[in-house]
Amino acid sequence: MKLRVGQGYDVHRLVAGRKLMLGGEEVPFEKGLDGHSDADVLLHALGDALLGAAGLGDLGQHFPPSDERWRDASSIDLLGRIVGLVMGAGWFVLSCDLTLIAEAPRLAPYRDRIRARIASGLGVEIDAVGLKATTNEGLGAFGRGEGMAALAVVLLGDREAAGGGASTAGGEAKRRSGG
Ligand code: MG
Repeated sequence: MKLRVGQGYDVHRLVAGRKLMLGGEEVPFEKGLDGHSDADVLLHALGDALLGAAGLGDLGQHFPPSDERWRDASSIDLLGRIVGLVMGAGWFVLSCDLTLIAEAPRLAPYRDRIRARIASGLGVEIDAVGLKATTNEGLGAFGRGEGMAALAVVLLGDREAAGGGASTAGGEAKRRSGG
């Protein structure tokens, strides 16, 4: 089986008066991430990793902030579109691993809910989704809580070698077409 690896990185500022969306889940916090879409930093890093692995460019190319269609876009919806592009290019997702860099809040209470949400978006089992969080040890802008960053790594396999459509990717496509 042919394999492709991709990596992604994203940063958003934290501001008052916005919901905090992480991995498609709303996380209770006094601030939220600022951006044109819902500013879901985890999913943006993941999206760039997916597009990079499939040789399909980057998020900004497919969903430019200058395009009003993507204003306040739900990043979990964007993830579905990206997985569609990746599958259309002949790949399916084997696994991903994500790191959130944030001083607060603690991610642990929401970790498995976020992993399940991402697993469903990617069409993989929950154990194929790694999610870790670290603080920036009080250093710099992230340490002062001015924003959050995320790192993502993704592994893709080719659908042809997996029998023209891996069961996970096929199942996901079926779910999607069924609405
Ligand atoms: Mg972003």
